[in-house]
Amino acid sequence: MKSDPIAPRRASVAVDVGGVPVGGGAPIVVQSMTNTDTADIAKTVAQVAALARTGSELVRITVDRDDAAKAVPHIREKLDALGCDVPLVGDFHYIGHTLLREYPACAEALAKYRINPGNVGFKDKKDRQYSEIIELALQHGKPVRIGVNWGSLDQDLLTRLMDENAQDAAPKDARAVMHEAMVQSGLHSANRAEELGLRADKIIISAKVSAIQDLVAVYTSLAQRCEYALHLGLTEAGMGSKGIVASSAAMGILLQHGIGDTIRFSLTPEPGGDRTLEVRTAQELLQTMGLRSFVPVVAACPGCGRTTSTVFQELARDVQDMIQERMPEWKARYPGVEALNLAVMGCIVNGPGESKHADVGISLPGTGETPAAPVFIDGQKAMTLRGPTIAADFKRVVEDYIEQRFGRS
Ligand code: SF4
Repeated sequence: MKSDPIAPRRASVAVDVGGVPVGGGAPIVVQSMTNTDTADIAKTVAQVAALARTGSELVRITVDRDDAAKAVPHIREKLDALGCDVPLVGDFHYIGHTLLREYPACAEALAKYRINPGNVGFKDKKDRQYSEIIELALQHGKPVRIGVNWGSLDQDLLTRLMDENAQDAAPKDARAVMHEAMVQSGLHSANRAEELGLRADKIIISAKVSAIQDLVAVYTSLAQRCEYALHLGLTEAGMGSKGIVASSAAMGILLQHGIGDTIRFSLTPEPGGDRTLEVRTAQELLQTMGLRSFVPVVAACPGCGRTTSTVFQELARDVQDMIQERMPEWKARYPGVEALNLAVMGCIVNGPGESKHADVGISLPGTGETPAAPVFIDGQKAMTLRGPTIAADFKRVVEDYIEQRFGRS
């Protein structure tokens, strides 16, 4: 059966976010968000730097009160002093207009403002406060993300659409009306921003929900109805494997159809857990889908009754650890190294075949097999490793291959 290729990327308008292009055919951007108190400058700088080192190309920080807004320019200065130039995005709710107006250094230090049309203000204040944020974005020359979220969906709009639907001869189900309200909230806000003078190349839209099918429906509709750059993310995805699987499934479907210009994994970390997981999973999604390359990929079989010793798992883990540890240096010394494919296989059944498809692959001996590990380089058997130093020997083979293939002559 012929598999469907990834659809061409949907045409979208390119937005420059602090030097990082989003949309317009640029590579899909990985972004993340801190969970430190932004007013705690040291902690926020450390986390932004860690996220950026891992590969986050934009980092969003909460700007929820005066102390946070005051801290933003200092966070920017300290990051610059560390040589970390990742653009910062400010996340504003309710009082964004006041904070951006009263703290111009904050407005200037941020590369983009994220505003949620559902809670920018209520009743008569809504348009005034929203307009003020757009005017401040224009003044400072910044783009905005109009971030609709179903947990804070514009209730007036939803109520109006529900009422209209109830009068309809063939009413839709409530979920479909909610989808339409999400899409309209994003599009109305973007149109209003354009009326106020913000160009389309300064506008990104997101419309996040927490259920996969809802997300697919909402973004598919958005993609058909506008050319704004789209930020993808499944909101409140959850913890651990559940959050990773749900986000990957949702965004994978949309990316496969060419929808999405930047992605974020909204994972709930374990208490004290590593925030950079959301960056690594976003990179892994894009890389495993063949949309971008970030780090060499290690193909490893799952193991089975033929791998009763732990040698195979240990080598697969060792090679993975080596990549993580060596990548910062490799990246600087060996341009293109992120496209490298490695294979660590557990026995003779699929081992040699899979190893031949990798740039460098090893097929370890399974239970009862001769204690020898053939190594394949560029599809050809290059050597056989034996004895207790197989892991170290294989890692040396990988380093030599990288030097030869990616080293600058
Ligand atoms: S390659 Fe061998 S060890 Fe690995 S899953 Fe297949 S049969 Fe099992």
